[in-house]
Amino acid sequence: MPQFIALPAFQDNYIWLIIDDNTSQVAVVDPGDAIPVIKWLGRHPEYSLSTMLITHHHRDHTGGLSTIKAATGCKVFGPADEPVQGLDRLLSDGDEVSLFGEKVKVISVPGHTSGHIAFFCDDEKDPWLLCGDTLFAGGCGRLFEGTAQQMHSSLQRLAALPDNTLVYCAHEYTQANLRFAHAVEPDNQDIKVRLEVVNDLRAAGRMTLPSTIGLEKLTNPFLRSEHPDVIKAATSRVQDSVEPGEQTFANIRAWKDNF
Ligand code: ZN
Ligand code: FE
Repeated sequence: MPQFIALPAFQDNYIWLIIDDNTSQVAVVDPGDAIPVIKWLGRHPEYSLSTMLITHHHRDHTGGLSTIKAATGCKVFGPADEPVQGLDRLLSDGDEVSLFGEKVKVISVPGHTSGHIAFFCDDEKDPWLLCGDTLFAGGCGRLFEGTAQQMHSSLQRLAALPDNTLVYCAHEYTQANLRFAHAVEPDNQDIKVRLEVVNDLRAAGRMTLPSTIGLEKLTNPFLRSEHPDVIKAATSRVQDSVEPGEQTFANIRAWKDNF
C-alpha cells in the first residue's frame, strides 16, 4: 500500500503525492502549482518523481504540469478527451495504468468537465480512488461542461466501488458540503455526527480527507438521490413532483449552486 500525502495549494486544493517506499518513487496527482511539489522533492532527495496523473484540464489541476515535467522527466498520464498539453499517455474509460506494480483503472466520469477521468486501484486490503473534482467529501463538483444526467451516472459508478475504498478528492470543501447536506436531510444522524467531526478538524486546521465510499453513501446527498428524504427535500424546494434518481440529483445540484 503506497502512502498518500496531501500538499495544500491555493485556497483549498490538495495536490496528492503517492509514495512508494519499495521503489523510492513518487507519483503526483493534479499539480495545479509546481512550487509545493518541487519543494517537497527538494526536502526528500531519496525519492524521485516518476509519474504524474491528471484528472481534468482545469488550471488548478494542471498549472504545474509543464514545470514539474521539465524538472523531473516524469511521465504524464491524463484524459484523452480534455485539452491538456504535455500528456505522454492519453487515457480513456477502461484503460489501465501500472503504478508501482499495482494496476490502476481509469473510470470516465464526465459532468464537472466533459472528459474528466478518475483513477481506481482495486487493492485487496485498501482500495483507493483519485476523483479530482467529481466526488467531494459530502458533495460533488459543479457542472461546468457536462449535464446533470452525466454527473449522476458518473457518481453512481463511483458509488458502486467497494465501501472501504479510500477517496482522495482534490479540494477541502467538506465543511460547506456537509452544511448543505444537513439542510437537505436535517434528520440524518450520520450527517450530523460527521459535520461535528469535520467542524472540530477544521477548527484545528486539519484536513478532512480521505473519505470512504461507504461514508459518502451515508452522508453525501449527491449519492442519495434515491433516498425518500432527499427526494422529499427536492420536491418541497420546487413545489412540484420530482422523480427519484437523476431528476432529484439535478434538483439538489441546482439548489447547492445557490446555497
Ligand atoms: Zn475542476
Ligand atoms: Fe478544482
